[in-house]
Amino acid sequence: MRQSRLFTKARREAPTGEVAKNAQLLVRAGYIHKEMAGVYDFLPLGLRTLHKIIGIIREEMNAIGGEEVLLTTLQNPEIWKKSGRWDDTVVDVWFKTYLKNGGELGLGNTHEEPLAALMTEHISSYKDLPRYIYQFQNKFRNETRAKSGIMRTREFIMKDLYSFSKDADSHKEYYEKVAIAYENIFKRVGIGDKTYRTFASGGSFSKYSHEYQTVCDAGEDTIYIDVSKKLALNKEVYDDSEVYATSGITKENLKEEKAIEVGNIFTLGTKFSDALGLSYKNAEGKATSVYMGSYGIGPARLMGTIVELLSDEKGLVWPESVAPFSIHLVSLGKSGDDISKIADALYEDFVKTGVEVLYDDRDMSVGQKFTESDLLGIPKRIVVGRDAIATGTFEVCERANGEVVKKLRTELLA
Ligand code: ATP
Ligand code: MG
Repeated sequence: MRQSRLFTKARREAPTGEVAKNAQLLVRAGYIHKEMAGVYDFLPLGLRTLHKIIGIIREEMNAIGGEEVLLTTLQNPEIWKKSGRWDDTVVDVWFKTYLKNGGELGLGNTHEEPLAALMTEHISSYKDLPRYIYQFQNKFRNETRAKSGIMRTREFIMKDLYSFSKDADSHKEYYEKVAIAYENIFKRVGIGDKTYRTFASGGSFSKYSHEYQTVCDAGEDTIYIDVSKKLALNKEVYDDSEVYATSGITKENLKEEKAIEVGNIFTLGTKFSDALGLSYKNAEGKATSVYMGSYGIGPARLMGTIVELLSDEKGLVWPESVAPFSIHLVSLGKSGDDISKIADALYEDFVKTGVEVLYDDRDMSVGQKFTESDLLGIPKRIVVGRDAIATGTFEVCERANGEVVKKLRTELLA
């Protein structure tokens, strides 16, 4: 993509009133736009990164047998009344609205109820189980705090996976598969070393759930980590003696940290299947409640976490796996001169070989171009300057560590 065609502009100043580092940098770099507190638009560069993250999550969900769907945002109150979760005192983040001809609707904040209701039409026998259904879907939550930029917003895409199993044992087996898939995801997006499987409070069917918490000062949660075991406890279960027996963690080895909850995995048991009448006939013909689990990740929260952890004083720093482009090709020529002709040709070569390249073909000062390039955080910068004419070489700069090497055109395209 030619940068001259990109409608977004980088800016020097952070927007006033934006306190989160992730949103400050992403707004400055033109990745996102703030509509209002806790509500952000994704612009071309931001959307590319978000799609990369979503792509990685989708691959890992498909690898563990996930089937992708897209459920609606608009929610029928009747379904939610069955589980008791329509009530604002039970779920305090509801956004609700009205039909013109009367009647209330909800904007979905999660999807256990509608999916359990939907699955009653598709699950009737043990032969129909297990099922693993997931989606990337816009959730609406009337969050009271909105100070963490894109990590806590009132409208956001969630990856929510739901498992439907025969019994607690087969559920447990799948639950551990999801745990591995989650670890793969966090590794692949570059935050694996700082992300801990964390014991948190569970609900009625398991004493504990597991959160994936990424250690970071910008986090809203407090956790206690055991570095050698790569496990942690959420503060909410720290004083519960049973959690130490269950997890094998020793209190003395724990270190308090601030952390961001990037994902969680949850045993739901038969809570929703009982409420919504989701059952199957077992091999003996006996009606049995389906055993459920739910598993969430917020792709934008993940994106914000990557920014909080990896960016530096010059701007964003993306790992290759989620970067909007792999290469930032920066021409130091002026349109029509020899340098810009070489840059044009190199750009076309990259496009032909399928390399994702952002080409800064604009007539701007060198300083301004480099400052912006640093801010955008694309992993590799290739500079087309006088060397390209004199010696046929190009400076290649790694954004993450500032390392510079000179390469020939053939080496760049190899
Ligand atoms: P939190 O305790 O941070 O509010 P939660 O327990 O409400 O999170 P879930 O309802 O399980 O989270 O949502 C699943 C995932 O969706 C979370 O792990 C997080 O990655 C993401 N998520 C939750 N709320 C938001 C939000 N307001 N904005 C962006 N992402 C979110
Ligand atoms: Mg929440």
